[in-house]
Amino acid sequence: MPTPTQILVAGGGIGGLAAAYVLGRQGLPVTVLEQSTAFGEIGAGIQLGPNIFRMFEHLGLTEAVRQVAFFPPGLGMNDVRTGERVVRVPLGDIAQAAYGFPYGVIYRADLHTVFLEACRALPNVTLRTGAKVESFAQDAQGVRATLTSGEVLEGAALVGADGLWSRIREAIVGDGKPRVSGHIAYRAVLPRAEVPAHLWSDDVLLWGGEKTHLVHYPLRRGELFNLVAVFHSNKYDEGWNTFGDTAELSERFAQAVPQVRELLGKIETWKMWVLCDREPVANWSQGRVTLLGDAAHPMLQYLAQGAGQAIEDAVVLGAAVRHTGGDWTQAVQLYQQARYLRTGRVQLTARFYGDIYHASGVARELRNRMFQGGQEAAGFAGLKWMYEGIDPDRLFR
Ligand SMILES: Cc1cc2nc3c(=O)[nH]c(=O)nc-3n(C[C@H](O)[C@H](O)[C@H](O)COP(=O)(O)OP(=O)(O)OC[C@H]3O[C@@H](n4cnc5c(N)ncnc54)[C@H](O)[C@@H]3O)c2cc1C
Repeated sequence: MPTPTQILVAGGGIGGLAAAYVLGRQGLPVTVLEQSTAFGEIGAGIQLGPNIFRMFEHLGLTEAVRQVAFFPPGLGMNDVRTGERVVRVPLGDIAQAAYGFPYGVIYRADLHTVFLEACRALPNVTLRTGAKVESFAQDAQGVRATLTSGEVLEGAALVGADGLWSRIREAIVGDGKPRVSGHIAYRAVLPRAEVPAHLWSDDVLLWGGEKTHLVHYPLRRGELFNLVAVFHSNKYDEGWNTFGDTAELSERFAQAVPQVRELLGKIETWKMWVLCDREPVANWSQGRVTLLGDAAHPMLQYLAQGAGQAIEDAVVLGAAVRHTGGDWTQAVQLYQQARYLRTGRVQLTARFYGDIYHASGVARELRNRMFQGGQEAAGFAGLKWMYEGIDPDRLFR
């Protein structure tokens, strides 16, 4: 049997499509296998740090993203109980000047569509829906992925971009279910017309409180308004489409300033996410099979980097494949070696930022004073290692 050349990608989320696009652009035949009956993303916002815009630039997607993104003038944090301003970082000045790339926000579905359209424009990328990968096997010649339908596909490699509950990860890492953080998120998106002017903010604005926070920002050129309310809870529901309980939410935010309560009251239906992550691991590959995005390094959302790190993964994987001339066993090792410490650092730092946002008592006072002591820019600069990102032109030189 001749060695198969096609690359199989399990999962057509932002990570899987980014990988398919990167590999497809390099001329490789790629097949994306998505379990859902249609490609799509849930309605919610995603923040895009300068490190992610650096990737868009490298991938030739900046313009497509710019057309649907929103560029907030600042990142702010207010105390949810008193309304006092804790910190505000002017983004236009700092992000562009310090990192050479902007800080934007985007509707998840719009970012997903950018990658979907980019993949569709490549004749060597095949996009399949209703194709759930059940298991895989491999030998020296290649990989065989078995779908739940019983169909078997052969490939030169398999990239598991199948998210938080990854099947491929189960077979490679075997670390069981994700770690339930004890935090849950309620999300909603409102049309601009439904947000009164006194509640609207162009900034990404986070209202931090004891074991709670609310973050909101505009989406899609300012036509939509994204809200995510997070609080501590012991609930656990897998998936991204469970409905939230509005009574529980208003109880959690009972101490919030009237402006926040008024805003929360505008929403009738919330969708709920149970927030999970995993301990970082150094090895998420086996032979010709590797993981990417949330399957490899799921993280809490407090640094707003999960999708961004998935896109960086895709760029690094592409560079590793190019560098090794298509030797997949070598390429996946090179790729994970270049990624695990950076993504592990984001995973662990995100947990710490959750504690900062939800601080109470002395920790809350300290946080507020530290930020208010004129160190707001320093707060942003403390994440320099993350926002500077990776230089795609210097990988594996
Ligand atoms: C509240 C919240 C806020 C966030 N905010 C941000 C942010 O501001 N910025 C940011 O960068 N990130 C953010 N993230 C993180 C980001 O959403 C994820 O990291 C990112 O979507 C991961 O993409 P992925 O493609 O790896 O996984 P997913 O998006 O989970 O995609 C996995 C895909 O694989 C499919 N699939 C699963 N199993 C199989 C199978 N066996 N066979 C075939 N297909 C399968 C699924 O249907 C899905 O389409 C946030 C996350 C949360 C929860």
